[in-house]
Amino acid sequence: MSLKGRTAIVTGSNSGIGLGAAEELARAGADVVINSITDRPEDHALAEKLAAAHGVSVRYLQADMSKPDECRALIERAGGCDILVNNAGIQHVAAIEAFPTEKWDAILAINLSSAFHTTAAALPGMREKGWGRIVNIASAHGLTASPYKSAYVAAKHGLVGFTKVTALETAGQGVTCNAICPGYVLTPLVEAQIPDQMKAHGMDRETVIREVMLDRQPSKQFATTSQMGGTVVFLCSAHADQITGTTISVDGGWTAL
Ligand code: NAD
Repeated sequence: MSLKGRTAIVTGSNSGIGLGAAEELARAGADVVINSITDRPEDHALAEKLAAAHGVSVRYLQADMSKPDECRALIERAGGCDILVNNAGIQHVAAIEAFPTEKWDAILAINLSSAFHTTAAALPGMREKGWGRIVNIASAHGLTASPYKSAYVAAKHGLVGFTKVTALETAGQGVTCNAICPGYVLTPLVEAQIPDQMKAHGMDRETVIREVMLDRQPSKQFATTSQMGGTVVFLCSAHADQITGTTISVDGGWTAL
């Protein structure tokens, strides 16, 4: 599954699933651009560490994925890309009537609209080369729903729909677009929602993990960030040339129930 000579941009990739994707893409030989909203010495050090570990070029480019101009400029600053992984995402847990409007807007902007802006900026270069891979990190919540996650569920369902439209507009042009729908992976995003879930459901931490999270996954296990990254690499490999407009669930059986 060599991706040598390809350049990949992974949005929101200084932690969690995005970092797992960046690591697996680098391991497969791709040059990688990692991104996040922060611009700390440790972000740049992370890029250097990945580059040294895998013998590829890894650059860190700061950009705020809630801002359309910064999404589009990221693609330009990277010099275009062969592989685009739309991964940046945030979460907020609250009942609809208590859901702050600014949280709704931020979740829709980062989890959904950023993929529209980066895709629009990346497509012309991919079409010109006749090769491109777009992988959108959606969620099991892009196919199912949970209470108290209205904005997240709406954004992820939207991302699954946007994936299909992108596939239709690029079919037969050497460009594919697919979505990965992860179940629960114990990343900072999931850790951060546990206190809110405890409050919303009136449960302690262990009960939230067991009954709200893992109970939905027949495997009863969290998936790992490298398993998500491996699925990204597969979708970018020649094995997946005819896979476009679909979703791959990596959810321990959640959506089979
Ligand atoms: P995470 O918090 O570890 O990663 C989120 C990344 O997005 C971080 O790098 C963060 O810095 C970045 N980010 C946040 N706001 C940003 C902004 N405005 N601009 C640029 N970058 C920004 O969480 P994660 O769990 O790895 O989430 C990654 C993706 O996977 C998200 O889209 C999330 O919805 C999705 N997902 C996660 C799970 C899970 O269980 N962890 C399940 C399904 C889907």
